[in-house]
Amino acid sequence: MDRRSAAALDAEDPLHHLRGRFALPDDVLYLDGNSLGALQPCVAERLKGVVEAEWGRGLIRSWNDAGWVEMPRRVAERLAPLLGAEPEEIAVTDSTSANLFKALAAAHRLRADRRVILTDDANFPTDVYVAHGLAELTGDLEVKVVPTDEVERHLDEDVAVLLLTHVDYRSGRRHDAAAQTAAAHAAGALAVWDLSHSVGALDVRLDDWGADLAVGCTYKYCNGGPGSPGFLYIATRWHEQASTPVRGWFGHARPFAFDLGYQPAPGAERFLDGSPPVLSMAALETALEVFEEVDTATLDARAGELTGLFIELVDAHLGNEVEVVTPREAGERGAQVSLRHEHAGELSRALVTRGVIGDHRPPDLVRFGFAPLYVTRVEVVEAVEHLTDVLEHRGWDRPEFRTEQVVP
Ligand SMILES: *Cc1c(COP(=O)(O)O)cnc(C)c1O
Repeated sequence: MDRRSAAALDAEDPLHHLRGRFALPDDVLYLDGNSLGALQPCVAERLKGVVEAEWGRGLIRSWNDAGWVEMPRRVAERLAPLLGAEPEEIAVTDSTSANLFKALAAAHRLRADRRVILTDDANFPTDVYVAHGLAELTGDLEVKVVPTDEVERHLDEDVAVLLLTHVDYRSGRRHDAAAQTAAAHAAGALAVWDLSHSVGALDVRLDDWGADLAVGCTYKYCNGGPGSPGFLYIATRWHEQASTPVRGWFGHARPFAFDLGYQPAPGAERFLDGSPPVLSMAALETALEVFEEVDTATLDARAGELTGLFIELVDAHLGNEVEVVTPREAGERGAQVSLRHEHAGELSRALVTRGVIGDHRPPDLVRFGFAPLYVTRVEVVEAVEHLTDVLEHRGWDRPEFRTEQVVP
């Protein structure tokens, strides 16, 4: 496909008009929205208003007058449709890591007679660290890390929790969440999902999947801004029994009664703990507005088309240069494509100096994210043109591309 036909397809796309909501520099092809989503000017405006008017002039009064206290609930209402969940099932707070600690602790209590947290060796490191930290603290848990394809085989009567990340951050492989959840339940375990690489890009349906708990971040495909708060989901059927080890006043049924006796808030809100990060929450709340115009199935379909086009062009032009490690079936991958190349780090850095921003995952993967809200088919075509040029002329083979930069 050439730029002309890509532009024609873009023009017909039901999401194409949303690209105009994002402020991306002209000299950049941004294919890293899976690490940090792009800025919308309305978010910058909102932040200015919150800082100058609400904080600057409203001062302490803004907790009530500007609705700061209600922010976690309002943002949960906006996230709910992206998760296929009810707002009462979602707490917006903390980092994904901290939320995962609370979610695993709650799941452990709900399956107190079992002693294994089962996860796979493709999981994101923080998930595995957090699981080990909880196991060390409780003293009665074992963390079992097995190859992805062997997970179901290890679901036995010892497993309390199956912990998986829906989309593998390296390969882009997507789990069949409904099937894996059913398998966990058949073995008597709970299923906890990390949706960091899914929410805002894919058709996430926590209630339909039958998931028990889930966590995820909002600074990737949800465009909440660097370090914006994460979320924790807990299915309604567990609300009565669920408890959190991090009991803070914002998770209390009546925080402003200042009662020394702890009474959890109803629903997922008990997983809130301290004061919400108002600036980040405000940015996230405004960033999520754009999703009111799309449904998750449409996002998922567009992610599949963009990634599919990228794979098709890479196969056609670079089949001998790189290996596509991401699954070729749209339903089996997320909104990213990873390519294997011996000099992946150099290649990634050479592309960044041309304004083609993807990233490198050691040792040998170059990763490209195709945020379905704002990446266009024309950009996919242009990115492959750059990639072809850099590979054909060994443009990556320069001393300045050999040193690793620190990128989170
Ligand atoms: C990005 C990501 C996180 C981020 O965790 P934080 O605690 O919010 O930094 C967690 N899990 C997965 C799978 C991720 O991709």
